[in-house]
Formats: sequence, structure tokens, C-alpha cells
Amino acid sequence: MKRTLSILGSSGSIGQQTLKVAQACGHRVAAITVNRSVELAEAQARQFQPRLAAAADERAAAELRVRLADTTVKVLSGEEGVLEAAALAEADTVVTAIVGVAGLRPTLAAIDGGKRIALANKETLVCAGELVMAQAEQTGAEIVPVDSEHSAIFQCLQGCADRGEVRRLILTASGGPFFGKSREELAQVTRAQALRHPNWAMGEKITIDSATLMNKGLEFIEAMRLYSMPPEKIQIAIHRESIVHSLVEFEDGAILAQLGSADMCLPIQYALTWPERTPGPAKPLDLLSCPPLTFQKPDPETFRCLGLALECAERGGTSTAILNGANEAAVALFLEEKITFLDISRLVEAALERVPVVKSPSLDDIFQADCAAREAVYHCVR
Ligand code: MG
Repeated sequence: MKRTLSILGSSGSIGQQTLKVAQACGHRVAAITVNRSVELAEAQARQFQPRLAAAADERAAAELRVRLADTTVKVLSGEEGVLEAAALAEADTVVTAIVGVAGLRPTLAAIDGGKRIALANKETLVCAGELVMAQAEQTGAEIVPVDSEHSAIFQCLQGCADRGEVRRLILTASGGPFFGKSREELAQVTRAQALRHPNWAMGEKITIDSATLMNKGLEFIEAMRLYSMPPEKIQIAIHRESIVHSLVEFEDGAILAQLGSADMCLPIQYALTWPERTPGPAKPLDLLSCPPLTFQKPDPETFRCLGLALECAERGGTSTAILNGANEAAVALFLEEKITFLDISRLVEAALERVPVVKSPSLDDIFQADCAAREAVYHCVR
């Protein structure tokens, strides 16, 4: 089935790969949004001829409007523009590839519209998972994960009508560039080293999250929300080869896994075509040239971000929004080379100590927790 897409965050790594899939598989692109990547947005708009192109940044939108003046593409600006793209009537599928909690409102707008959500914005589920899933249930919006681990689990769960048959979900983790290092060694690592992921080419924020293992902590919470699983039914296994993308163990002891090359085009495409499968641009996996597959225990003490995320997974309420907001702020500071690698977990931990947790939060409580967490981080580095 051919889909009509609205791609939120089309200039990022997932956004660009979604366009690659759309082109290879013949899906139509009705809307694209960027934050301020005007040049790329112009090129994408010229190539894919969407009805709408929005830039969240007002100045970027003004420039994009000038650049696309000779086309029929309508250019919108600000959060309003992104929300309009998320709810665009002719789009049946919204790919949420915006990084961070900035993706929350647009995702909710798409859910309100009853769209299929190809969910690539894990922060949305980490901060407001219960609200998001409840709203999707109400509007009938299908949420299909793009995150490779969650897509793997989604694929393994096909044909499983009763979640009671699931004994546990096993999330694999590459371990990132610093697997096996001690705290003393981690104290010395640089921005450039942290940005060198061994297996995956991704955006900067998620690459740093992979190096701290916060990414796996966020994915643990994401899996709890997507699949309504308690934390004790989710396990993390370090799998350095990034070939097994995750697994599901059933009550009878059978374990199903999904394997593939480290290529996001496959989970992106599956989120669009599910429950169908079609040929596409993903690099095939040659089993006979694979290295031996290994699985090891994670170390949440050395990689403190993972430990903190697992604590928040148990604690619930706004603790996961505080975790996420503090992490977003700390990672931005690390990318600006204003703090060290180990400062990231130190600042997240400080924010979790300072900001009170609200149980059963409203959307406003969640945004407030996010702001307070960022403030707490800035306060600690001042
Ligand atoms: Mg992932």
C-alpha cells in the first residue's frame, strides 16, 4: 500500500532516510518540517513537491518562503506550522522524526488526527507515554515504532494476540564507543570520541546518548509504554555486533529475534508498510559473513545514565520527563564542550534530586517538569 506522508524533522538522519524510502517505494510526501535547515528543506521540497513545508524557526521560515517563491509549496512557520503539518488532512501517515521533547505536541496533534504514527521520537513516550498511548487508543491512531529495537519487538509480536503470552522483552544495545571502559577512562573521553559510534550513523544527540547508554535507558522506558510491560519484564543485553535488533521471549520458552544490517531504512519502511512487506532500499544482511553473535550484561554503575533511567522507569510519574529534560540540556552542553562526559550523568542525577516528582501527571505537569529539569542543569553549571 502506498502511503501519503507528513515527515516532521525531514532534515535529520531519520527524516532523510524516510525520504530515501519514500522515493524507492513510491510513497507520496505531502509535508516536510525542519527546525532551521533551510537549504536542505529547499532541496527536499523541490525534489518531492510536498503541499506544505514548515520551519519551526521563524527566520528560517521567512528565508524558505523566499527560496520557494517560484514553486507551489506552501511555507509555514513556527510551532503552529509544524502542528499544521502534523494534522494535514491528506497525510495518512506522520513520521515523527523531531529530536527531543519538542516532538511531543506535534505527535499529539497527529494522534488527534487519527493518523498512523511512524514513531521515531522516543522522548515523546519517555516523557508522556501514558498520555500518548491513551490518546492513541481513543482516536484509533496506530503507533508503529521506528526505533530499531522497538521495531524488532513489534515484528516479533506479530501474530501474538495475547500479551500475557510474553515472558519478557529483550532489548539489545551496541554498548556504544566506550563499552568496557572504567569511570576513570570515561572521565577523559572527548566530544569527538563520543560522536564516533561503532555501528550506526545517527544524529549527534542520539549518538551521545548511545555513548552514555542513556539511549538504552530511554528505550527501556519507551518499550514499557509501547508494549504495556512492567520493568521486571524487560531485559537489556549488550550485543556489540548490532545484528540482532531485539528479541521477545514467550511463556513456552521460545525466543524470537529480528536480525538485519544496521540500516534504519528497514524499520522506517516497515512502519510505513506494516502489516505488509515490500522490497526497499535497506542493505540486506549476509548471514555467512556475520561475525559471531555475542550477548553480555550491561553495567549501569559505570554507565550511570543507564542506572538513573532504570530508577526512573520504576519510579514513574514526571521522573522520566525530568530525566529526559535534564539529559537533553546536559547533552547540548557537552556538544558545546562546556561540560565533560561524566558531567552528563552528574547533572541528570542532580536534576532528579532537585525537581519534585508528580504522580499521574497532566500534560502541563510534564512540560513543567521538563523546564524545571533544564533549569536545574543550568543552575548546577553556573
Ligand atoms: Mg534504538
